[in-house]
Amino acid sequence: MNDYRGRFAPTPSGPLHFGSLVAALGSYLDARKAGGRWEVRIEDIDPPRCPKGASDTILRQLEAFGLHWDGPIRYQRTRNRAYAAALQQLADAGLAYPCSCSRKQWRDYPTYPGWCRDGPCDPKAPLAWRLRSDLGLRPVVWHDRLYGRQCLDPADLGDVVLKRKDALWAYQLAVVVDDADQAISDVVRGVDLLDNTPWQRQLQAALGLPEPRYLHLPLVIGDDGQKLSKQNLARPLPEDERVRPLLHQAVSALDQTPAPALATAPVEDQLAAAIAAWDPTRLTAGSTSVAPNWPAA
Ligand code: GLU
Repeated sequence: MNDYRGRFAPTPSGPLHFGSLVAALGSYLDARKAGGRWEVRIEDIDPPRCPKGASDTILRQLEAFGLHWDGPIRYQRTRNRAYAAALQQLADAGLAYPCSCSRKQWRDYPTYPGWCRDGPCDPKAPLAWRLRSDLGLRPVVWHDRLYGRQCLDPADLGDVVLKRKDALWAYQLAVVVDDADQAISDVVRGVDLLDNTPWQRQLQAALGLPEPRYLHLPLVIGDDGQKLSKQNLARPLPEDERVRPLLHQAVSALDQTPAPALATAPVEDQLAAAIAAWDPTRLTAGSTSVAPNWPAA
């Protein structure tokens, strides 16, 4: 093993669908080709959105596809203290502030206008915490291994929420704290998260955390042309012998060209061939693939 560390970081708001398989597989292949570690982190910071048993289903699905991870699983619900320390560090540096505004109040603006930056408008109301996107690293310039040089001003995106009014931690803060704590060297995930990266880079800079390499993978859409998501009830992946052709299709969705005969081969054989042949330069920026269908059980 070297210092490559990759991760798959699903939110357990439902079982994995074909789009999440492609993201998991891309990060797995990239890590294994590099001879690195591949970890799984369950991003269960929003319990009301995470049905009971969804994490276990996700782990079973990964196993069914032969995607075995290294080391213990990290559960974000156990990481309260680390997120609180990071928020305190940002607040001490004047980079985070409590905010009482509700979405309704600023609905006529494209992003939150920062009304509470100098103190909460209504200190007695429940308070969220927001990042001062106008301070700190600006513009944010980073390199994506597929999309190339990226340059964005986080202030154009607005002051993102770090902690919600209901005291739940927000994704942007948790992901940055854990990627650094787990020494993740390579973030490989779906392109739908590309535009979250400026906030994450700004947070890394503010917290003095290292910058991982980024590779954002092509999107998978449904028959209706919409991005597959748990919210639009994309079909859960099977866990039986139907995984074989699906794994083959997931390798193809990553613009690799697996031998047709592998479509019926055991997942271990398919993965061994896919690792050996993994070439991320074959990926096409902006490409999409349509999720395949599979027979009912
Ligand atoms: N938890 C996020 C999701 O399921 C992914 C986080 C990441 O890969 O940075 O969409």
